[in-house]
Amino acid sequence: MANKFNTKNYDYLIVGAGPYGAIFAYEAAKRNKRSLIIEKRPHIGGNMYTHTENGITVHDFGAHIFHTDNQEVWNFVNKFADFNNYQNQVVANYKGELYNLPFNMNTFYEMWGVKTPDEAKAKIEEQKKAAGIKGEPRNLEEQAISLIGTDIYTKLIKGYTEKQWGRKATELPSFIIKRLPVRFIFDNNYFNHRYQGIPIGGYTQIFDKLLASDLIDVKTSSDFFAHKEEYLAEFPKIIYTGMIDQFFDYQFGELEYRSLRFESETLDTDNYQGNAVINYTDAETPYTRVMEWRHFDGLADPGKTIVTHEYPQSWDRSKEAYYPVNDEKNTETYKKYAKLARQHRDKVIFGGRLGLYRYFDMDQIINASFNLVRQEFKIPADYRFDQE
Ligand code: UDP
Repeated sequence: MANKFNTKNYDYLIVGAGPYGAIFAYEAAKRNKRSLIIEKRPHIGGNMYTHTENGITVHDFGAHIFHTDNQEVWNFVNKFADFNNYQNQVVANYKGELYNLPFNMNTFYEMWGVKTPDEAKAKIEEQKKAAGIKGEPRNLEEQAISLIGTDIYTKLIKGYTEKQWGRKATELPSFIIKRLPVRFIFDNNYFNHRYQGIPIGGYTQIFDKLLASDLIDVKTSSDFFAHKEEYLAEFPKIIYTGMIDQFFDYQFGELEYRSLRFESETLDTDNYQGNAVINYTDAETPYTRVMEWRHFDGLADPGKTIVTHEYPQSWDRSKEAYYPVNDEKNTETYKKYAKLARQHRDKVIFGGRLGLYRYFDMDQIINASFNLVRQEFKIPADYRFDQE
């Protein structure tokens, strides 16, 4: 019987047009392999998708600031766009008090008036002792207090974290907070990485270029689950970057996610809040942060600005899944799915934030995609994807 979906002798079906799948398709095409990408959403790029209006590039799925220590990944993305020298410096607003983030000497001075690293360390040690924290932190709250003390935990972490994740900080894994640097120098750079920036004109151009080959076809607004059985039967190999539990019909139960909702407005001013990102760290304000996109690249038309409020929300199957909730229960469930996935390894490869149920950053996903290409095409480990 003739194929209904694999009409062009495709080598790969790629489910999801985010970075993992798009880079795989690009590298596969370079090796003369043909891919069909199906994407549920009406656009490519996954959560990295951006669009531009009034000269302002808006990140539709929340601020994506590229940062990495991986030179190969950095050189690779720079082949597809010019990156600016944006450095993320976030301001926190706690009930009208402003603090610099991440936690550094500026924050400690604003919080306590301390002026030297020794004074700051003494203050943190004193608060850690008073909180009775000893040994390995068992959860995010203990981790945070042992890193930066009770005052900063209370004003800058607790409210933000609990509304962001929809659960108590004592019920969250400590690795979440370890993402943020703590520094005893006056340095407001949100990231520790060597390379950082935002592509001038946005991320979507990167995906347009990655997917430009004649050997790649892309179908947007196309749901894998509408024809899962046919896809499995017709394609020799599938790279799947959707939700792993959905792929296996939720047989071990549903994995939990946290979702987000964005509300954007265009205002007739050059400068609404004076910074690209302001976090609202109290528990009562319903949004976690406000982005003013023109401050990411300074290319906006005069007199216009676009401001987006980011609201965390609970997730159900009708909403976008943003953050995997990697607590113990979900980790156990995920392990069962991962075991099943290994049994399907010859036919289906799982990747991306949803396929691997991990809180990945963009550079990590790109590196994971390189590794898949190395494996799939038996490329030596020392091959560099940034070379040609
Ligand atoms: N966080 C916080 N206060 C802040 C910003 C971040 O407590 O003002 C905590 C919070 O738990 C959050 C985590 O640090 O989930 C990681 O923050 P990051 O900005 O890296 O999150 P992302 O940008 O990935 O949403």
